[in-house]
Amino acid sequence: MQSYDYLCQNCSKLFEVRASIAEYSKGLKPTCPHCGSQRAIRTFTSVNVLTNRPRGGTMPLACGPNAGPGCCG
Ligand SMILES: [Zn+2]
Repeated sequence: MQSYDYLCQNCSKLFEVRASIAEYSKGLKPTCPHCGSQRAIRTFTSVNVLTNRPRGGTMPLACGPNAGPGCCG
Protein backbone atom coordinates (compact mmCIF):
# COMPACT_ATOMS: atom_id res chain seq x y z
CA MET A 1 0.00 0.00 0.00
CA GLN A 2 1.22 3.42 -0.71
CA SER A 3 -0.27 6.82 -0.69
CA TYR A 4 -0.77 9.28 -3.46
CA ASP A 5 -1.46 12.96 -3.23
CA TYR A 6 -4.34 14.31 -5.18
CA LEU A 7 -5.54 17.81 -5.82
CA CYS A 8 -9.24 18.37 -6.15
CA GLN A 9 -10.04 20.50 -9.14
CA ASN A 10 -13.38 21.40 -7.70
CA CYS A 11 -12.38 22.79 -4.30
CA SER A 12 -8.59 22.96 -4.81
CA LYS A 13 -7.82 20.97 -1.69
CA LEU A 14 -5.19 18.34 -1.38
CA PHE A 15 -5.96 14.90 -0.10
CA GLU A 16 -4.24 11.58 0.14
CA VAL A 17 -5.36 8.33 -1.38
CA ARG A 18 -4.02 4.96 -0.36
CA ALA A 19 -3.82 2.29 -2.97
CA SER A 20 -1.57 -0.45 -4.16
CA ILE A 21 0.57 0.03 -7.23
CA ALA A 22 -1.67 -2.39 -9.08
CA GLU A 23 -4.75 -0.40 -8.21
CA TYR A 24 -3.03 2.80 -9.15
CA SER A 25 -1.86 1.49 -12.49
CA LYS A 26 -5.39 0.42 -13.31
CA GLY A 27 -6.45 3.97 -12.75
CA LEU A 28 -7.73 5.39 -9.53
CA LYS A 29 -10.88 7.43 -9.32
CA PRO A 30 -10.40 9.13 -6.01
CA THR A 31 -13.21 11.03 -4.46
CA CYS A 32 -12.45 14.29 -2.72
CA PRO A 33 -13.22 13.94 0.99
CA HIS A 34 -13.93 17.65 1.20
CA CYS A 35 -16.53 18.13 -1.51
CA GLY A 36 -17.18 14.66 -2.93
CA SER A 37 -15.99 15.56 -6.39
CA GLN A 38 -14.20 13.00 -8.52
CA ARG A 39 -12.33 15.63 -10.45
CA ALA A 40 -9.06 15.09 -8.70
CA ILE A 41 -5.66 14.93 -10.26
CA ARG A 42 -2.44 13.42 -9.05
CA THR A 43 -0.02 15.94 -7.71
CA PHE A 44 3.68 15.88 -7.06
CA THR A 45 5.86 18.12 -4.99
CA SER A 46 6.29 20.97 -7.40
CA VAL A 47 3.46 21.03 -9.81
CA ASN A 48 1.91 23.01 -12.55
CA VAL A 49 -1.10 20.84 -12.61
CA LEU A 50 -3.57 23.67 -12.43
CA THR A 51 -2.90 24.73 -15.97
CA ASN A 52 -2.30 21.31 -17.30
CA ARG A 53 -4.61 18.40 -16.79
CA PRO A 54 -3.04 15.06 -17.41
CA ARG A 55 -5.74 12.64 -18.40
CA GLY A 56 -5.26 8.99 -19.02
CA GLY A 57 -1.81 7.98 -20.08
CA THR A 58 0.74 6.43 -17.85
CA MET A 59 2.97 8.67 -15.86
CA PRO A 60 6.56 7.56 -15.49
CA LEU A 61 6.65 9.23 -12.12
CA ALA A 62 4.53 6.40 -10.80
CA CYS A 63 7.55 4.14 -11.05
CA GLY A 64 9.28 4.40 -7.73
CA PRO A 65 11.67 2.09 -5.96
CA ASN A 66 8.72 -0.02 -4.91
CA ALA A 67 7.30 -0.38 -8.37
CA GLY A 68 6.51 -3.88 -9.41
CA PRO A 69 7.69 -5.64 -12.53
CA GLY A 70 6.19 -4.31 -15.71
CA CYS A 71 5.57 -0.88 -14.26
CA CYS A 72 7.78 0.80 -16.77
CA GLY A 73 6.97 -1.55 -19.59
ZN1 LIG B 1 -12.96 18.80 -3.43
